[in-house]
Amino acid sequence: MSTPYSLPDLPYDYSALEPHYEARTLELHHDKHHSTYVDGANTASEKLTAARSDADDEHLVELEQALAFNVSGHLLHSMFWQNLSPDGGDKPTGELAASIDDQFGAFDACRTQMSRAITTLQGSGWATLVWDTLGGRLQVTQVRDHQHNQIQGAVPLLVIDGWEHAFYLQFGPDKESYVESIWNVVNWMDVESRFAQVSRLVLP
Ligand code: MN
Repeated sequence: MSTPYSLPDLPYDYSALEPHYEARTLELHHDKHHSTYVDGANTASEKLTAARSDADDEHLVELEQALAFNVSGHLLHSMFWQNLSPDGGDKPTGELAASIDDQFGAFDACRTQMSRAITTLQGSGWATLVWDTLGGRLQVTQVRDHQHNQIQGAVPLLVIDGWEHAFYLQFGPDKESYVESIWNVVNWMDVESRFAQVSRLVLP
């Protein structure tokens, strides 16, 4: 049997990202919302195991969908916390910066594309900077919910949560202020290290 999915601790205190991201918002976001996806991933996984052993074929596909939603939500939140840091902000450097310039023309164009993925979201989703393993290049995608509208085989490097629970308590309906604020705490060292790990990965 596989180990259950588990909620990772935050790599900093609840108040560490203030004033850019307030403690109460971060606490609820991690302890309640992220935790719900971890529980959902385990529930779907357990029910799939049970459905297979009971030969309950009728429910397999809906359980697969629940698994995709919840595991994706768990992964994105786990990455989001690591993508942020009290010492973050500014812009990327080194090979990641060069690859961004190559693909987007300049960092500001990449940043604008990600910000717009958040501010134009209809409903819930994420902005992600991904490594496209088929094309061997960076791309920005607007993910719906946690799992729709993503490029197959793409590996996320930087993710920004666009769900209402991510910003409403602190920013109200002002998604632009939220995303501008998040840019102040982006942990580019983390994003650069992810880029270094996957940028030579080419699929299929
Ligand atoms: Mn969230």
